[in-house]
Amino acid sequence: MITIQDYINGLKKGKILGSKCKKCGNLMIPPKPVCSKCGSFDVEEVETTGKGVIRSFTVIYVAPEKFEDKAPYVVVLVSLNEGGAVMGRLIGVDPTKPEDIKIGAKVKFKPLIENGEQIVAFEPV
Ligand SMILES: [Zn+2]
Repeated sequence: MITIQDYINGLKKGKILGSKCKKCGNLMIPPKPVCSKCGSFDVEEVETTGKGVIRSFTVIYVAPEKFEDKAPYVVVLVSLNEGGAVMGRLIGVDPTKPEDIKIGAKVKFKPLIENGEQIVAFEPV
């Protein structure tokens, strides 16, 4: 069974891992042992391409303490090409110009260590 630690180790290697329900096809990221849609335990580990499109985004001006020095920054909700959605930091953009960030724009996953913590980041492609 895939654990949260496997997920974090995957991120470090540049992979977004998830679990997919064999019954209804629901893709869960981070992976869960039980399907969040139909409750089935019949789930399998999947490795996504880490590619997707921006579904929505927000600019963070008041950050949690550990990321205070990084604000402002952009947080995006990305719909992965395989299905499923992941929240992450959007890098390679100017957070003071949110009008330049487009819903539907293509992005890809990029592992990022910030203040000693593994975080999920995406960059435009
Ligand atoms: Zn299911």
